[in-house]
Amino acid sequence: MSDLTRLTATEIAGLVATGETSAVEVTRAHLDRIAAVDDRVHAFLHVDTDGALAAARAVDERRAAGEELGPLAGVPVAVKDVLTTKGVPTTVGSKILEGWRPPYDATIVQRLREAGTVMLGKTNMDEFAMGSSTEYSAYGPTRNPWDTDRIPGGSGGGSAAALAAYEAPLSIGSDTGGSIRQPGAVTGTVGAKPTYGGTSRYGLVAFSSSLDTPGPCARTVLDAALLHQVIGGHDPRDSTSIPAPVPDVVAAAKLGATGDLTGVKLGIVSEFTGEGAEPGVLAAFRESVDTLAKLGAEIVEVSCPHFRYALPAYYLIAPSECSSNLARFDGVRFGLRVGDDGNRSLEEVMSLTREAGFGAEVKRRIMIGTYALSSGYYDAYYGQAQKVRTLITRDFTAAFERVDALISPTTPFVAFPLGARTSDPYQMYLADLFTIPTNLYGGPGISVPCGLSDGLPVGLQVMAPTMADDRMYRVAAALESVVGTFTPPAL
Ligand code: GLN
Repeated sequence: MSDLTRLTATEIAGLVATGETSAVEVTRAHLDRIAAVDDRVHAFLHVDTDGALAAARAVDERRAAGEELGPLAGVPVAVKDVLTTKGVPTTVGSKILEGWRPPYDATIVQRLREAGTVMLGKTNMDEFAMGSSTEYSAYGPTRNPWDTDRIPGGSGGGSAAALAAYEAPLSIGSDTGGSIRQPGAVTGTVGAKPTYGGTSRYGLVAFSSSLDTPGPCARTVLDAALLHQVIGGHDPRDSTSIPAPVPDVVAAAKLGATGDLTGVKLGIVSEFTGEGAEPGVLAAFRESVDTLAKLGAEIVEVSCPHFRYALPAYYLIAPSECSSNLARFDGVRFGLRVGDDGNRSLEEVMSLTREAGFGAEVKRRIMIGTYALSSGYYDAYYGQAQKVRTLITRDFTAAFERVDALISPTTPFVAFPLGARTSDPYQMYLADLFTIPTNLYGGPGISVPCGLSDGLPVGLQVMAPTMADDRMYRVAAALESVVGTFTPPAL
């Protein structure tokens, strides 16, 4: 393996800026690594070799011309296949968009290009970002580089596995209920879900619009912060984008790296008692709590009584929004069209297309959502879930009057074997037990590696108040300064 693939984004950017290495060399090293290992990992759905080399060449030319380069110029990045990329296939892990080449870039993709990063390709995901294992991808599962018989988390398993397999130093994910943080936790990488509205949803194929949040994935907290800074900030093309600057997450990550948490008050959620969580996960979490205390943090217990209703509320709200959002995939406007032989009605073609184009989990969500929104049941299901959402937000608000941030394990369990949870949807949904409350509230959350359980990575989650993303980076970087980063056994 070329050494260049082992470097952090920060290191790569430094080498490219001084000319010690070229963006083209860095890009070739990562493309070679993908060619060498991705048949075993399957992190990528599409590798854009020509586009990546062209972008890298452009960075090298700008440097040669003496132009000022941005902090991530020349750094390769892998993008979850949920974001539109102009002229580059975008499938959302679904057959219904097979072959679609979007006519425009998502705002995040555009910002990545403007920053001089090099997009390597599009990463695998559960279809329409619904799932926790990447097994619901219509293009086959991604495998965890720590153990290729195990899942890499989901829905953004491809983005996390690409990092752990050293195929990319940075990647983009999207988090509706945990799809950045949970894959980060089970692959020993860092995944941050920004404050809702802190990163643009323009060009993000919608699953649940009031929850969807794109964000950064990396192998170190500082790299994640640098990527967050590049992609974040107001976008007039997204109606729920927050018109405020990105909190200074890079400075916060650097402050945290000094390993001093004096004056920081952290809350452990009493309702996350560990019920349903694996003993190895709880042990790693407890050890990390001790570490954080040694770094000067004050640790207290905080009650968030409504968190126990978060999972059921999420599984009404998210499917409801999805049933509406996915109505646009009708065989007319994009991608797949089935049965259009000139003899069938429009309705028949739509029905055949959706029958063939959507997988079982997506159909399940559409049906649940349609039911929850139907006139006789709206108040009992969707309306009730929205009330729970308000109560959860109040729990967070009350907690943040007492503490600066909340901490928990990111997931109840480490990476499970492929196939272990596909036959029972509820078992799959449980993967996001600890991450979903943050989505319902809209605040930021980060997963940072905190230890191993039976040789598999465990993540610690830091949850902060809305628009206080910097706080979670500080705490995560402080923990990282002690426990370090995690490298899987060689692939
Ligand atoms: N696992 C959750 C779900 O299936 C979360 C998905 C996500 O964050 N995109 O809905």
